[in-house]
Amino acid sequence: MAFTTALLYPPIADFTQPHPAIPYLASFLRARGEKVLIKDINLEAHDAMLSTPFLETCYQMIESKFETLDNKPFLQFSEHALYKALLDALGADSSIISNVDSIKKVFKEPDSFYDYDHYFQNVEKLKQALQIISSAYHPMIIEPCEYTTPYFLTSHADILEQCQVNINPLIPYYQDQLLHWLEKENPDLIGFSVTYPTQILQMFAMAHLIRSHFPNIHLCAGGAFISQMTLNMQKNKHRTLFQYLDSIILYEGESALYHLIQQLKSRQQYQPIVNTILYDRKSDQVHYPSKNIVENLDHIPPPDYDGYPLNLYLSPKPVLPYAPTRGCYWNRCAFCHYGATQKGTARYREKKLEQMIADLDILAEKYNTNHFAFSVDVMAPKTVLAIAKELIKHNRKYLWSTDIKIDDLFTRQNCQIIKQGGCLSVAIGLESACQRILELMDKGISPHQAQDCIHNLSSAGISTQIMTFLNFPTETAREAMETIQFIRLNMSDISLFTMGDFVLHHGSKIFENPEKYGIDRIYFPKNDDFKLLTQYTEKRHTKSERDKEQIESAYADIAVQYAPQDFPFVGGVSNNHTLLYFERFGKDILKQLNSNTDDTISEPKTFKRHDIPVMRPEIKAMAANYCLSEIEDVIERNPLNLEQSLHNRQINCELNESTKTYPQKTMYLLIQSMNWLETPQHARFLLQMCNGKNTAEDIINMISPNAWDMLSTVLNSLYSYNVLDKKQ
Ligand code: SF4
Repeated sequence: MAFTTALLYPPIADFTQPHPAIPYLASFLRARGEKVLIKDINLEAHDAMLSTPFLETCYQMIESKFETLDNKPFLQFSEHALYKALLDALGADSSIISNVDSIKKVFKEPDSFYDYDHYFQNVEKLKQALQIISSAYHPMIIEPCEYTTPYFLTSHADILEQCQVNINPLIPYYQDQLLHWLEKENPDLIGFSVTYPTQILQMFAMAHLIRSHFPNIHLCAGGAFISQMTLNMQKNKHRTLFQYLDSIILYEGESALYHLIQQLKSRQQYQPIVNTILYDRKSDQVHYPSKNIVENLDHIPPPDYDGYPLNLYLSPKPVLPYAPTRGCYWNRCAFCHYGATQKGTARYREKKLEQMIADLDILAEKYNTNHFAFSVDVMAPKTVLAIAKELIKHNRKYLWSTDIKIDDLFTRQNCQIIKQGGCLSVAIGLESACQRILELMDKGISPHQAQDCIHNLSSAGISTQIMTFLNFPTETAREAMETIQFIRLNMSDISLFTMGDFVLHHGSKIFENPEKYGIDRIYFPKNDDFKLLTQYTEKRHTKSERDKEQIESAYADIAVQYAPQDFPFVGGVSNNHTLLYFERFGKDILKQLNSNTDDTISEPKTFKRHDIPVMRPEIKAMAANYCLSEIEDVIERNPLNLEQSLHNRQINCELNESTKTYPQKTMYLLIQSMNWLETPQHARFLLQMCNGKNTAEDIINMISPNAWDMLSTVLNSLYSYNVLDKKQ
């Protein structure tokens, strides 16, 4: 029997396009005669979760959990957030559950995908479907492409928590489908590709489950995130990881995985392998890599997506990731630690130009697409230009996007050539528009250069996606405002921007030399075995609370000019939906979509005496035993600190009487957008009379003619919340 390798891409990640890591490994191994199966578990698990049967199960769980909590004599501190989440979900539009297949279809069919109103409504519905799952599995929160959980990966105990079926909504998919698939395919080696932090817990949950069912399969993990995590950990903690895995590939994986397969095939005693930490279960020995290498891109074939169900991604056409370069040619930015490398960025390499074009030809023909996302750290400007020229020379009509750094080579004329060569969009790490901060970062650019470069790209018709962040150490309020002001002044040339917050990365120059950047202490929360949650304090506070408010408000003023930004949907940076909108509607589409939204202030809705109010059929009224205003108050008064929320250690809070809530009968109107409205008791009788037979005047007279003003106010507010409608 041929040795079989199964490569799995764990949740939670983008479900609108494939990630290229596993297809690259597969093509490398298949070219060497290996049998390789690939499976995008992230995509398939999302598809399984976003299905009517699973959502129905979640809804039943919500109803049953709510009933249990609602009948308790009092709510403990830890039960408050759950009660609120359940009540939110009870207001869900039940048509989302039965129509979830049609909702997914909206993103796959061009007519509905490019109809923004329709598209946007269905983005909201998809998010609500994920909220239903999150409420059923509280406290895990699943959002598109990410999830949060108090059982964050900090220790072995957290990992085990995550493997429980009642805590993790992905376990049913793993149990029902993944295990059957593995049983059928019977692989000898399973490789998990962990590129993002959001995948790590699910990778461990899968490894734990697979290990208990198939103890003889060799389990290996690699990818940028697990590579960085393993390198950052103390060596004596590595054994924690080997409770689940047999090997971990650091850095790039192609050669390492090939050598690992040869070693496993030979069935001989483990020998050190390049880029790989191997755990020998029999002798309880850990073997560290023989040496660390980076791949020569000329030996890497184009990614092989065979085995990925390309029609299942939520996209009207495939936008295939392709990596003509790896690493960063600059590799100097002080904050940066990016990719499968111990520090900074990986060494910069490029494929030969003719090979790039040949690869694109292969992918275009095989997968019937002309859309590509160049999946790179950052591409050298001369290479961007050379690719465009080569595509023009060979008359190829490929459309593509890439990541670049500001550079003087992006002249007006060169940008026109790049556009002509098919470049639709570039993502640019500007980071800051303050000269002092840019110098401290060692970004190697000036705001003036940035302005020219962005203008030249935009004038050529290329969409510019500008990434910035605030709160770089020592940044003052005035300096933060310079970045905001830059975006405001150059908005006509900026198709999309993001403005995040500085994050201190292990492996960055700042981490190595914090004093230079005004940082006096770097620390990790207690029990953070995997060193994932880097915390720091600065020597000086450079922004007051008032400064922060002003910055927030200035940011909101410019953010509002663009269509809402949410990865992986239209408006999110570097994703395929946004790219397809740029292609169809042009580089300014996100600003146009925003200006099309109807922001006219409508007249307040009011009832006249002879109107007949009726409750909208989709609104559900229900009575519950606890008052949510009180519950929210308790949550607000008792915020958990980081240590507590990391470990769900709410025990101390449980002991405190002020963190309990006692029953107080309350009436709710559950509105379909997963919202609820706490309603006064007397509104209950009022709503019962809004049955399509009585006029507003009849109703008020029947309840209390003396309380005319108060009752008509309640009636009008129910009308303005869209709870009531006028009978036509
Ligand atoms: S931020 Fe970008 S340009 Fe700077 S080192 Fe990192 S990848 Fe390179």
